[in-house]
Amino acid sequence: MKIAFEMSEDSISSRLKSIQNRVSETCQRIGRDSNAVKVIAVSKTKPNEAILEALSAGQIDFGENKMQELQTKMGEIHSPEVQWHMIGTLQTNKIRHIAHRVNWIHSVGKAKYLNEIEKRAAIHNRIINVLIQVNISGEDQKSGCEISELEHILNHARQFEHIRIKGLMGMATFTDDLEQIRMEFRTLKKASDQHQHLNEGNVDLKELSMGMSGDFEVAIEEGSTMIRVGSSIFGARNYA
Ligand SMILES: *Cc1c(COP(=O)(O)O)cnc(C)c1O
Repeated sequence: MKIAFEMSEDSISSRLKSIQNRVSETCQRIGRDSNAVKVIAVSKTKPNEAILEALSAGQIDFGENKMQELQTKMGEIHSPEVQWHMIGTLQTNKIRHIAHRVNWIHSVGKAKYLNEIEKRAAIHNRIINVLIQVNISGEDQKSGCEISELEHILNHARQFEHIRIKGLMGMATFTDDLEQIRMEFRTLKKASDQHQHLNEGNVDLKELSMGMSGDFEVAIEEGSTMIRVGSSIFGARNYA
């Protein structure tokens, strides 16, 4: 467990550098432009000091998976350059608490959430970037829509002036089997490719949010443009 020990000795800034290096190396190896892969630092359960440390190291995209925690952190960290990403399960009645500041919502798996995001973004005269979460693991029916529902959701989104649909998000099965994970990422990429003809107006499927600490290199190989990395930057969490 030498690696884990070294990790715990490292600063957030050096871990961020190491993630960026791994992103660059992976991109170089497969001939992708490393600027096309954005690192989202998943700061859930971590204190504001950790976010500020990452921020001063040049990290500007931060992800949270709980609406309440995101709301609190957005209220306490006043740096205007921060891009906040909501990446976890949504609750309709809490969207109004984040709509004034959140920049991206990755986890929209149902058309009904779009109605509420539009309503709340309009009140603040803002535009919110949205990714449609697709169930690629086949495990938990609640984590994202089925591929067969995508067309309906994208068409539903067209009427909304304060929403931009920027791409798809997926969570792979929680497993050590990287080949299974690769196949699931490939499924998301294929779903994106197969819906490109629907791009028009506020629908532009360009981003693929996939890959976490344990599998982001595989995700990049399969076309990810946004990796959501938590523990490899901030260290292990005590709870999910
Ligand atoms: C926690 C979380 C991550 C980051 O997980 P790590 O394994 O710590 O990198 C990514 N995406 C979502 C939706 C998460 O909840």
